[in-house]
Formats: sequence, structure tokens, C-alpha cells
Amino acid sequence: MRLRVTVDYHDGVEPRLSLAARLAFANGYPSLRDFLAVNSLSLKALETGQPKAIAMLADWAGIDVERLKGNDIKSVGVSDVWQLGEASMSRDMRPGKTHRYCPKCVMEDMECGSGRSGARPFVRMSWLTRAVQQCTSHCTEIVEADDPKGQRDFPRYVEKYLLEIQQQASAIADAVPTFVAEYVETRIRGGSSNEFLDTLATHVAVDLCRNLGRFEIEHAPNEQLPDSSWQVETMRGFTRASAGPSAIETVVADAVDRERPIALEMNAFFRQASSLAASQQG
Ligand SMILES: [Zn+2]
Repeated sequence: MRLRVTVDYHDGVEPRLSLAARLAFANGYPSLRDFLAVNSLSLKALETGQPKAIAMLADWAGIDVERLKGNDIKSVGVSDVWQLGEASMSRDMRPGKTHRYCPKCVMEDMECGSGRSGARPFVRMSWLTRAVQQCTSHCTEIVEADDPKGQRDFPRYVEKYLLEIQQQASAIADAVPTFVAEYVETRIRGGSSNEFLDTLATHVAVDLCRNLGRFEIEHAPNEQLPDSSWQVETMRGFTRASAGPSAIETVVADAVDRERPIALEMNAFFRQASSLAASQQG
């Protein structure tokens, strides 16, 4: 049965759990968990896309079931790889018990749209993986906050910490766009944007970029990057790897040409390259 108060759904971008949490908030339920418990529905059923769960949510939201299909979040077999929409992710890309969000997006959500303002901020699929470290709308870093009990109740979190999020939104500095977040977001949607990287599983493509970037930075002549971060390394590697295999070979060949490592040093020299190869196989 359609709930008394409904909210705008953001097709293709918003996870089902986010919609359920906003519906629960808008209709005065104490929490997402309470709302689901009353209806004998689990978080997992919604996340993984069980047909009955999708049908119930569509009914409550008053929208067509087809609009809620896709955007599944689930394990893949017995490996550590998991699926986020149409993209594969590795274990270290799991968000764990955290809320990940862009404070600027949250504040814009509050100001725009219809209905109760507290029910407007919605989770973006791309916030649910640590392979994405930037907001693709604002080029600012994604903020992580503890969600100790794994409640996944984003509207309640925003309500409780609104002042803090407001301060974050005004204080957060613009970053240089890395394009990695955009790339991953496209893969989550099932789109393609790079001839070479798209041949790899998404988590493998991201790991390849990170390892290649780290290798290049470590072997860069006269370059001081002591605080080389995940972001810096991945962006550097993405710039190279997105140009294809020959560009990757050039990075390695240039480093070999410059440093001429002797045979005994090869293991140390290729420390990152070997993990790069391992990630390609993974
Ligand atoms: Zn944003």
C-alpha cells in the first residue's frame, strides 16, 4: 500500500535502501530498522534486490517496480569481490560501518526538491565504495563518518549532525578533479568510457591505476611527493593506464632506462609492478 507521504526517487543514482530510509523518515517512523521490522523486511533483501523486497518498496513509494530494478549490492560467489550496481569491487573498497557523503550534495538536497527537507538528502551509489574518493558534482573529497551499528539510516544521520554537515559544506576545499570517481561511477551504471580499462573488472582497473601511479611516483626523477595519497597515486596511474597498454609499458621502460637496475635489484625495483601484475590477474 502506498505510504501516506512519498518522496522523489532518483532513478539510477539512488540505492533502494536510501529510498526506504527516506520513506521511513518522511512517514514518522523512528528509524529505518523499525520501519523494515514492522514490515518483516531486511536491509539485505533490499540491497541484494530480492523481487519481493523490490515489489514492496515500489508499492510503498507509489512507483513502478521497473524503476527500482538494478543497483544491486551483493557478494559475488565465495570470493571477496562484491558487486555495486554493474561494477565489481574488492574487499578494501567496502565502506564498512560508515556513512560516506559529499556535504555539499547533502546541503543542496536539503534546499532543493519537494516534501519534508529532512527526507530529501539521498545516498548516491558511488558513495558506497572507497574506490570513489571524490564527489563528481563538486570535485570535493567524500567525507566518512561512523555508523557504529551499521544502521544505514542516512536521513536520521543528517538530522542528527546537520550543523556539522553544514560546517563541512562551507569549509571543504575544492579539489582538482581526478576523473577516477567519474570513471567508477560510469562503471557502476554499466556504462563504458575507456577502451582499455573497460576490458578489466572495475576493481582490477582501479587497482591497476593505483599500482601504476605509485610505481611512477616512486621512480619519478626529481619529484618529491612524500604525502603521496591513494588519490594522487590513482589519478597518476589513471592518466597513464587510460591511454592503453603501450602507455603502461612506456612508464615501466622509462623507469628502467633511467635507473638501469642490476639483476639483483630487480625484485625491489618491480615491487609495485609485481603487485600491479597480481592485481591484473585478480
Ligand atoms: Zn557533491
